[in-house]
Amino acid sequence: MSQYSPLSNTTGPIVADLRSDTVTKPCAAMRAAMAEAEVGDDVYGEDPLINRLEANLAERLGKEAGLFVPSGTQSNLLGMLAHCGRGEEVISGESYHVIRYEAAGASVLGGVALHALPVSEDGGLDADAIVGAVKEDDSHHPISRLLSLENTNYGRAVPLHRIKEAATAGRSAGLSTHLDGARFFNAITALGCAETDLADPFDTVSVCLSKGLGAPVGSVLVGPKDLIAKARRMRKMLGGGMRQAGILAAAGLFALERNVARLTEDHQRADALASHLRNLDIGAVSQATNMVFLTPRDGVSLTGLSAAGIAMSAPEPACRMVLHRDIDDVAFSHVLRAFDALAADCRAA
Ligand SMILES: *Cc1c(COP(=O)(O)O)cnc(C)c1O
Repeated sequence: MSQYSPLSNTTGPIVADLRSDTVTKPCAAMRAAMAEAEVGDDVYGEDPLINRLEANLAERLGKEAGLFVPSGTQSNLLGMLAHCGRGEEVISGESYHVIRYEAAGASVLGGVALHALPVSEDGGLDADAIVGAVKEDDSHHPISRLLSLENTNYGRAVPLHRIKEAATAGRSAGLSTHLDGARFFNAITALGCAETDLADPFDTVSVCLSKGLGAPVGSVLVGPKDLIAKARRMRKMLGGGMRQAGILAAAGLFALERNVARLTEDHQRADALASHLRNLDIGAVSQATNMVFLTPRDGVSLTGLSAAGIAMSAPEPACRMVLHRDIDDVAFSHVLRAFDALAADCRAA
C-alpha cells in the first residue's frame, strides 16, 4: 500500500478528510476570482494572469523567470530535464518525491539517471554523502549534474543551515541545484525565514499551489531565464501548454495572497492533534508542520475512525493525517472526539 492509498472502508460520508492537503476545494471567493479572470492564450504568452503569477512567484523567490505547469510532478520533471541531458544524473534523497513518487519520469522521458542517498532524521541530505555520490569524469559513469533537495519532507521543515550545507557541498562538487518545494510555504512558515532565504541556495525551485494553499490545480517552476525557456519548450513537448489558463492562475494568485499566512493554523492544529494522541497513548506519534503520523500500538484498531467519517492514509506502518484549510474547528473537534472514543474502546477491550 502506498502513502496515498486511503484507509479502506470509510463507510458513510467523509466528515474530515485528512489523507492529504491536496483534497482542499476552492472556496466561494476563489471561485469568484476564477470566474472573473481576464484570459488570453498562454501558449502565445498572452494570458495576463498567467504572466502575473509567473512573474510574482519568480520575484518573491528572487529568480528571473517562472513557468506555470499543471502539477508538481511536471514541475520537477521539467526542472530535472532543463538541468540534465541524456546520460547525466540527478542526486537526490531515497524518500524524496522525485525518486519515489514520480514514476522515474526523468529517466523514462529524459534518459537521466537517478542516484538516491539516505535521508537524515531531519529530512535533509548529508554534505559528505552528496560529495561522495558525485562521480569522477570517467566513461564508466553517468555525468553527475544536479542535486535535487526537498522541503518540506514528510512534513519536516529541513533547517536552513542543513539546506545551505548540502547545496554548498553540491555546488562545490560542480552540481546545479533544484528544490522540490511542493510545500515551500509550509517550510517558510515553520522555519520563520524569508522566501528568498530558502530559495537562494537553488538554481530552480518548484512550488505547488494545490496543496495547503488551496488552489485546485497548478505548480510554478522558477529559475534563471535560460533554464525556464528550456522548460517552457519541454512543457509544450509534454502536452502541458495550456490556453486560457488564467482561470487557474486567478486561483493561484488568490491562494498566494490569501492562504499563506493561515498555514500557521494548520501547523497549530497538527501540533494539538499530536499532543492529544500522545495523551491517549494509542501508539507512536510524530508531527511536523501540517502532518501527523500515528503508528497504532498492537491491538489498536482504527476502523472506528472510518465509521466516523474520518479518512486518512493507510498504515504503512504509520497512518498519515494532514491538516489543511478545509479542516475547520468543527471538523477538528470531531476528529479529537473520534480518537477519544477509539481510546475508550481500547481500554474497555
Ligand atoms: C505533492 C508533491 C509533489 C507533486 O505532486 P503533484 O501531485 O504532481 O502535484 C512533489 N513533491 C512533493 C514532496 C510532494 O509532496
